[in-house]
Amino acid sequence: MPRIYLPALRFVNNKISITGEKARYLTSVLRCRKGDDLIVFSGGNDCFRTTISEIGRQEVTVEVTEKFLCNLESPIRIILAQALLKGEKMDLVIQKTTELGVAEILPVVTSRSQLRETRRLSRWRKIAEEASRQSGRNVVTVLHEPMQFGSIFSDQGSLFKAGLILYEEKGMKISKAAEMLKRVSNAAVHSFMRGGQLVIICPEGGFTEEEIVLAGEKGLLIVSLGQRILRAETAAISAVTLIQFLFGDMG
Ligand code: SAH
Repeated sequence: MPRIYLPALRFVNNKISITGEKARYLTSVLRCRKGDDLIVFSGGNDCFRTTISEIGRQEVTVEVTEKFLCNLESPIRIILAQALLKGEKMDLVIQKTTELGVAEILPVVTSRSQLRETRRLSRWRKIAEEASRQSGRNVVTVLHEPMQFGSIFSDQGSLFKAGLILYEEKGMKISKAAEMLKRVSNAAVHSFMRGGQLVIICPEGGFTEEEIVLAGEKGLLIVSLGQRILRAETAAISAVTLIQFLFGDMG
């Protein structure tokens, strides 16, 4: 059954009016018809099974037939701090890590980033919304405004409690990092384990020694994904998968 994300739901007598781009998506892309069923989600745990009662090019009206809970989120909130990647690579990382359940993505500019800025944020947000919709999630991965590497740590308290930085030159095995995080009983790790937040950082051109030192000073564990040098997009997707396996709902 087709699903559609409506961030702002307005009910009138158990009906929802869908207009604009979303209406065109239903009529032109999904080719829905009157009488078809449709799942509507809006980012919370409630989902709505609906039936299309009116359909036009500019407006579609659906009638709610059932409200139900749906929550496909992992117990661990993962924030992927991903260095800006060129072209399709960033699209791939956003789509695949959204399917894998990341909560937030921070596009990051590091010293060796070839890209220093982007005009693709709205494109990336659409990719995240479509990947959430397709994967059955009712939460859309949040795509933040790009930020400088250093500023990730400036408001660390609010952003994350514990984290990993992926570094091909050195680092511990991710299983060892997992043991360390599980063993340390401080509040940060406790909130991390209970669904706290984790940052995984991975740039295209590699990190400078200074960036690695800064991350270490800020309490991130330096992690290797083995001896082979992976492309940034491979490292990001594998790291999120491993974290979901070790701490999330893929284990
Ligand atoms: N220095 C690399 C370029 C970076 S690889 C080169 O000379 O080709 C892209 C990014 O993916 C790295 O910055 C790192 O964050 C991650 N990465 C790649 N292979 C890795 C590995 N074996 N272990 C940990 N991280 C890795």
